[in-house]
Amino acid sequence: MELDIYIHGTVQGVGFRPFVYRLANELRLNGFTRNTARGVEIHVEGDKSELFVERLKAEAPPNAKIDRIDVLPSATSGCKGFTIFPTSEGEATVFAPPDLFTCSDCLRELLDPSDRRYRYPFINCTNCGPRYTIIESLPYDRMKTTMDAFPMCPDCRNEYEDPLNRRFHAEPNACAKCGPRLSFFENGKTEGEIEEAIRVIRQGKVVAMKGLGGFHLVCDPHNAEAVRRLRTLKERERKPFALMARDIDTAREIAFLDEDEERTLLSPSRPIVLLRKKVEIDGISPNINSYGIMLPYTPLHALVTENSPLLVATSANVRNSPILKDEAEGIHELSDALLTHNRDIAMRCDDSVLEVVDGKSVFLRRARGFVPDPLGIGLDDQHPAILSLGGELKNTITILKDGYLVTSQYLGDMGEIRNKRYLEEVLEHYRNLYAFNPEFITCDLHPNFTTTRMAEKWGKPVVKVQHHIAHVYAVLAEHSVDPGEPFLGVAFDGVGFGEDGNIWGGEFFLGRNGRTERLLHLRYVPQQGGDLATREPWRMALSYIVDAFGEVEMVGLLNDVDMRILKGSRNAMEKKINSPLTSSMGRLFDAVSAMLSVSPLRIDYEAEAAMRLESTASEDVREHYPFDIRDAEVDMRRMIRAIAGDAENGESAPVISRRFHNTIAHVILAASELARERYKIERVILSGGVFLNSLLLRETVTLLRDAGIDVYVPERFSPGDEALSLGQAYYAAFKLKGAN
Ligand code: ZN
Ligand code: ZN
Ligand code: FE
Repeated sequence: MELDIYIHGTVQGVGFRPFVYRLANELRLNGFTRNTARGVEIHVEGDKSELFVERLKAEAPPNAKIDRIDVLPSATSGCKGFTIFPTSEGEATVFAPPDLFTCSDCLRELLDPSDRRYRYPFINCTNCGPRYTIIESLPYDRMKTTMDAFPMCPDCRNEYEDPLNRRFHAEPNACAKCGPRLSFFENGKTEGEIEEAIRVIRQGKVVAMKGLGGFHLVCDPHNAEAVRRLRTLKERERKPFALMARDIDTAREIAFLDEDEERTLLSPSRPIVLLRKKVEIDGISPNINSYGIMLPYTPLHALVTENSPLLVATSANVRNSPILKDEAEGIHELSDALLTHNRDIAMRCDDSVLEVVDGKSVFLRRARGFVPDPLGIGLDDQHPAILSLGGELKNTITILKDGYLVTSQYLGDMGEIRNKRYLEEVLEHYRNLYAFNPEFITCDLHPNFTTTRMAEKWGKPVVKVQHHIAHVYAVLAEHSVDPGEPFLGVAFDGVGFGEDGNIWGGEFFLGRNGRTERLLHLRYVPQQGGDLATREPWRMALSYIVDAFGEVEMVGLLNDVDMRILKGSRNAMEKKINSPLTSSMGRLFDAVSAMLSVSPLRIDYEAEAAMRLESTASEDVREHYPFDIRDAEVDMRRMIRAIAGDAENGESAPVISRRFHNTIAHVILAASELARERYKIERVILSGGVFLNSLLLRETVTLLRDAGIDVYVPERFSPGDEALSLGQAYYAAFKLKGAN
């Protein structure tokens, strides 16, 4: 039987065509295959063509992601043998492959003295190696990657052209004769690059090491002086540093990990996984109960960790700016020595960071290994192209093209000019990569966001989406929930511009008939000091205490604040000077953290106060504090009074913290039950950066499930502001669809 098969999905650059070739030969089928702009096209003829289709689905290579297969009877017949045709040019697809960790076959060759690539740090094959970070345009082909600068030697070319070789069309294929090379600089260039780098690390110095999406700063985690030096270079007092462990056993020596966490560490994306500490290594993640650990994901990493099983490997960037990808971007000021190479990075990209909660991933940062991974949302190709510019902090952009949403890697805070340039870099890249030209632009409702101003200047129709509605829609998008279906959307985060001009962030939305209205919100309190209050959590403690008691009670951290400053803040609050109203849940976490003196007076990185509060929480405390839901308001004053009372009576911070977490979960349960009774809503969406708190997430999901409620949580995208652009795009797509 003659069949034409069209495969959509991430099927280029993952060893798909060689797999097709081998399968067709095994089943003695004639025909051909080729990469097209939309995926892979296959024509087969022979007795077993239907079996071929079945096995195609069942046995596809591990990194292929098939989105859709169309099988049609074919008019073509009479092919002789099975041929792989060259890639046809044409309109670009949205499917670019993500970067992949070094596979076990390549690792074996890397350490085999008889192999021609013995200890060659850029070994790769059709199943592994750099992809997204070296691609300049699509379809994926060597000529369109930064490997174009390295003409293949005859041996490499033979492998590349042989359909039965495991390097057939491995676009970054290379060897020591023809491919990229390492170099090492300390005081001038030195031979023996890897050995030299390790020697320098052992001396307590900081080495910048070029990886896939940029440079890492690497040092010895057990050398306190080296770690301090790294903190000085990065201008970070306490922000946790990621560790690279040679293998699972090394990770297990310093942290606890269960099966799911082990599987995640070993997954092809090789993310940084947050794991509970077993032993304390000074200065790595102070006051937090976890380490961020990753395994080696390039051959260079494998060689460097061979005899140095545990290293600090943190992104090389100056505070709040993008990861560096070229030496010229100032890498020398950040390091003592340089281990680099001459393969250019086309697209800078940080390591991804996630935690595993009840077997599922929660992204703290979605980047290398997970981008681009297009998300099909069931719209047809004819839908207008949308560009979503996201928010301000921890931003990303999303494009809608051909019915797929593509969300970029984490880009950082837009207030910093270098991050804004990074956004422009990615935007330009996507225009080339995806031949993308937007017809609509979306952005946040906030009038002063960098991205809002960019959207307004674009010259195309702009759809503005309220911050927390975008949070909820991001989760609807990844679960393919039609926004026309009824839902209760919970959006808990630090800050977002509200429709009434106040700062929102503890929000419950009612979604019905495609409309989203604010149902409940945390009672407003003044955020005295404005943005300063996000960096000085004691200000929120003061605000909540005054709201609950009607006067100042000296609780926790307030005792450490300079009296004049404290009084000044109190007076300003009374006179409503620099005291915008907020319903932010993130700020409530800050307040409680400060009431328990768990928070520092001034934080070093976003959410430090909340993370410390979570880290300190005791494991087995069941009870929670009282609260009230009145009209549209969630009133936590009784809880604040109870916490102050507990603290005064000498109850421990771990117990109070845990009771507080339980209380917030119960607030969500109460709101969900209210929505169910009043509006017959059974579906609850959890969104917003507060749900990066795994304790809260786990408690909430358990409570809601036990109550028979359907819970949707962010799994493929971050709960935080990284997902805003995704939510905006999904919101606008449906709004525009309705308008048609
Ligand atoms: Zn490989
Ligand atoms: Zn070669
Ligand atoms: Fe947010």
